[in-house]
Amino acid sequence: MVVMGKSGAGKQPRIDVLVKEFGLVQLSTGNIFREYVGAFDRSGFKGDLERFYDAERDTFVPDDVIIGAIREQLGNVDDARSVMLGLKAKYFMNSGRFVPNSSTNELFAEYFSKGDYKGFVLDGYPRTPDQSSFLLDLCADKGTKVDLVLLVENEDELIIERTMGRRICKKCGKVYHVKFKPSKDGMNCDICNIPLIQRADDTEEKIRTRLAEYYDKAVPALAVLEKAGIPVARVPGNLPVFTDEAVRESVMIAISPYLKG
Ligand code: AMP
Repeated sequence: MVVMGKSGAGKQPRIDVLVKEFGLVQLSTGNIFREYVGAFDRSGFKGDLERFYDAERDTFVPDDVIIGAIREQLGNVDDARSVMLGLKAKYFMNSGRFVPNSSTNELFAEYFSKGDYKGFVLDGYPRTPDQSSFLLDLCADKGTKVDLVLLVENEDELIIERTMGRRICKKCGKVYHVKFKPSKDGMNCDICNIPLIQRADDTEEKIRTRLAEYYDKAVPALAVLEKAGIPVARVPGNLPVFTDEAVRESVMIAISPYLKG
């Protein structure tokens, strides 16, 4: 299944339902990119990231050039590839822009292959028409398919309010909100008991950039999947009562017409 929706629409609680009900594995390109950005930040690499991007050709300079620069500064680090992927992701994520299709598709295919191309709930991918076509071709090639798109719908202004108050646990990924869904003590994760953090890209300016990217690229990406005959179930991202049971029920009602057997 694919879960789509604006960044901050409320995808994660719906994904939690699909994972629990159907034993699917969440594959989130945003989380993968954040892991690599973490590797990049930990590496201590310093310097201007601009020089690795060829803006005229709208592409990064060759990988071996970037890896060479990383090795030159940090010595023979064994995870130079992770540092390089983090560098590429950070260059775009920092400003709320999408990471280019070539890097995203390559990384997605690598993780998709780890589960033999099935049993996943895809989160944040595909997000451009090019990524949708890449996914459809990859599925056709591997003899698998997308069964359903679950579209989480929400209004822009509500998303801005929700996203700015969003706090997450770095360890288990649980999502809270300072006003709508605070943790028990308002500061630490209920499960891991470590301080909750705010994502670096959850500022108003970056949220607005992500919304613009959504209209520009993710809406046509959904159209590509729809045109290929994949059913789309719609679910509200904002519920009058936000309990786990209310979320579960709204998801199950939305997808029940498409469940077989
Ligand atoms: P998310 O956590 O899904 O909101 O993703 C955070 C950021 O990661 C986005 O704003 C993009 O910069 C990047 N990203 C995640 N998934 C994709 C994708 N499929 N294509 C391009 N960029 C992505």
